[in-house]
Amino acid sequence: MPDWTQYFKDRLENIKAEELIITIDMVQDAHRQYERMVEERDVKHYINRYMKLMWSLLVFHKPFEESCSICEGELFYYTDLIDSKVIKGCMTCGTYFDPLADEAVVYTETQARPATKLELLHKGIID
Ligand SMILES: [Zn+2]
Repeated sequence: MPDWTQYFKDRLENIKAEELIITIDMVQDAHRQYERMVEERDVKHYINRYMKLMWSLLVFHKPFEESCSICEGELFYYTDLIDSKVIKGCMTCGTYFDPLADEAVVYTETQARPATKLELLHKGIID
């Protein structure tokens, strides 16, 4: 398997049921990604769409409620492994935002993983 699949392997093998959050919007977004994927004929684009589909289900986001204020890209929620801060990051331009203030934050730490249900509850991002 190529290296880039390792992240998904780790994530799928280590995730606990109580960490998972999949909203109806996320399922609808994944369905939208799936439809684009099956119509794709270019292998490279197909792989990109497949990654996006996986991301749509594995990482909390609000596909129909919010988008990046800079480029309109999709925002996904992560937790910093060092200070446990929840941040949301744009998949397209790479800008990070404070999830509550909606302000761009300087974030250089790459040690982040998808935010869990408990973390999102604790920060008041979901209820
Ligand atoms: Zn963006």
